[in-house]
Amino acid sequence: MPHAAAKKKLRSGRVVNVFDPWSSPLCTCPLKYSLNPYTGCSHFCLYCYATAYIGVKPSTPKKDYKRRLLRDIESGILDPRLHIDIATSSDPYPPEEERYRLTRWTLEQLLPRGYKVLIITKGALVARDRDLLARGNAAVTMTITTMDTGLASRLEPGAPPPRERVRSLRLLHEAGVPVGLRLDPIFPELTDDEDSIREVLEAAREAGARFVVVSTYKARPDNLRRVLEAFPELRERYLRLYRREGRWLHGYYYLPDALRREILLRARRLAESLGYEFATCREGFPELHTAPTCDGSHLIPRRLEPRPRVGRLEDYLAQDPGQPRG
Ligand code: SF4
Repeated sequence: MPHAAAKKKLRSGRVVNVFDPWSSPLCTCPLKYSLNPYTGCSHFCLYCYATAYIGVKPSTPKKDYKRRLLRDIESGILDPRLHIDIATSSDPYPPEEERYRLTRWTLEQLLPRGYKVLIITKGALVARDRDLLARGNAAVTMTITTMDTGLASRLEPGAPPPRERVRSLRLLHEAGVPVGLRLDPIFPELTDDEDSIREVLEAAREAGARFVVVSTYKARPDNLRRVLEAFPELRERYLRLYRREGRWLHGYYYLPDALRREILLRARRLAESLGYEFATCREGFPELHTAPTCDGSHLIPRRLEPRPRVGRLEDYLAQDPGQPRG
């Protein structure tokens, strides 16, 4: 189904949207939906791209979310052939999820009906939901930018430490949930050296990840300001690399092409040596990809056929997860 046709079928007031990465022609994602149970994000990553649109504020459940999601599902407008990303602009497992359980409720609605779901998160809490994820058409990609706890706490002050995320990946993998890694983004000078990249790749691989998507940091005025406030020693170099030598591409300052390619090739070489499938995100180098998709959606197993009427959740949870099909 073409993008416009999928979009047209949805209506205003919906919470499920056709994924549109700010219209970037460099995006190589397959056609898919995006669903964000929360707005704002308590992980407060300095480099967050979404804050230019939604501001910097803690995670809050979307207004009238449950009623709107049920309406989207029950109206039959969602094409079950397309997968649903949860989530693309507000992490689905912020600390608040422990209390609200909104993402868990979302999975309880979507997975027993046979929808395909790709979780994108930094929240170690995702492992809590492995009982649901392991029985449905679901995969998880975890973002880890560095294994250095101190550096991670400066870059992603509200997110769990990297070792907790790795532990969560392992728990999911052991439960039978396919998992991938987002090494996204890589920062020049901070996390682009061979040791830093290898450390993340090795930790996630050992925990069960077999796919990685990599990107370089792209600067927007608001996220660059936050990064330079936290790392004033990078000011001169970053302003030169991004503002003077780099390129303004589709709403972002990119690093110079040669440097970007060099970083991505380094990551690919290390990833391949560890047996990963490799992809990049909004970089414009699709020839570097060895994975069938750039977002990891090929990891989603086909365990259940789509079915409009959902049975009892207890029956869904009582199923033997077994081996994924497809
Ligand atoms: S977890 Fe994602 S949405 Fe949340 S602040 Fe970090 S980059 Fe932004």
